[in-house]
Amino acid sequence: MNYRAPRGTYDILPEDQAYWRFVTEQTRQVCELYGYEQIDVPVFEQTALFERGVGETTDIVEKEMYTFLDRSDESMTLRPEFTAGICRAYAERKLHGRPQPLRLYTIGPAFRYERPQAGRYRQFHQVDVEVLGSQDPAIDLEVMQVAWQIYEAVGIKGLSFQVNSTGCPACRPGYIQTLKSWYEQRLDGICGDCRRRYGQNPLRLLDCKKEACSAMADEAPRIAKSLCNDCDDHFGRLRSYLDALDRPYEVNHRMVRGFDYYTKTVFEVWAEGIGAQNAVCGGGRYDGLIGMVGGPETPAIGFASGIERIILTMKQEGIEPPDTPKPSVFVAYLGAEAKKAAVLLAQELRTAGIRTAALWEDRSLKAQMKQADRLGAGCVLIIGEDEVKDGVVTVRRMADSTQATVPRADVVEAVSGGDAP
Ligand code: AMP
Repeated sequence: MNYRAPRGTYDILPEDQAYWRFVTEQTRQVCELYGYEQIDVPVFEQTALFERGVGETTDIVEKEMYTFLDRSDESMTLRPEFTAGICRAYAERKLHGRPQPLRLYTIGPAFRYERPQAGRYRQFHQVDVEVLGSQDPAIDLEVMQVAWQIYEAVGIKGLSFQVNSTGCPACRPGYIQTLKSWYEQRLDGICGDCRRRYGQNPLRLLDCKKEACSAMADEAPRIAKSLCNDCDDHFGRLRSYLDALDRPYEVNHRMVRGFDYYTKTVFEVWAEGIGAQNAVCGGGRYDGLIGMVGGPETPAIGFASGIERIILTMKQEGIEPPDTPKPSVFVAYLGAEAKKAAVLLAQELRTAGIRTAALWEDRSLKAQMKQADRLGAGCVLIIGEDEVKDGVVTVRRMADSTQATVPRADVVEAVSGGDAP
């Protein structure tokens, strides 16, 4: 029987880890620079949380969730995103009792049963950033700045920031009505999916990628004209902050995002050249969600960025992460007595905090040297019968192949500077 990784999943092999480590470390640093604290929520939650939180008519809830009955016949779902779980934690753990706003971030896997393609997986990873307890547009700006700074920190350029306002429960229904009346005369010109959206989730008519639908959506009435005073003022102030910052962004009237919970600000970041799945980041304000999942009415905003897509973009732009650390020393030995001495030496080196590799397979010295070279070790400490007898170790520096004999008692000290004597 040959087992295979499930479709849409993949292994992150050792040689890929440098990217992952670099991106997650840079992300943490930026989040902490802005004063965001880490939170971790469960990988699975009660299904009803996502149905309610993400929205019954969204693609995610309708067809992408990994839902199962646990052994107590309770319906559980692998998290398709983080926001609902964080809002549940905020309400359940009474995080609203802490000084507000609360700035949080988390990094981890999410799961969606999507059609896999480049940049789209069934198990993928997100960095997720949320601010709970503030409705000031300066917070919307701050959250966008965190995203910007993460991309800057990993060296990505050439991104496009797309911003829109999606209104609120006071003004969005009116806009949806306007949109539906406009589309009513044009149903013959749109695709089958869009006709379904017309009935179920009309805002999604605006982000259909098919050519005819897209051309029509360009002509459709814009939400900007339907915003209530509160939403209009909020969006106006956010834009004035964005303009002051002098970072390029675009107001995209057709961007509505795939979740029901967004209110007011929505934004995405697009990268060129990584294929059809070009969104590296998506987010927005969700002033009603915490109330909806049982907490006090609390305004909030956040974004999630796909780590796979950040890495794809880095590769596309030729950005290489720093190397993962290599062993400082490699311990080689010849003979049974020497092996015992080598095991002890390796133990002593590691206790002293020196990265140490060895091959305990009783191979020839040549084979051990080859392995040390392959691992990129800085030097090889050789112990043979003579060394054991004389109480010394032969230290071979790999960079220039020079060798020195060092008393056994001094060898840890001698290599602890990271350099061979
Ligand atoms: P969303 O939660 O749908 O707003 O997505 C936020 C970000 O997560 C997107 O911009 C992508 O970078 C990433 N993302 C979403 N779905 C997937 C997926 N199936 N595979 C890889 N990355 C994804």
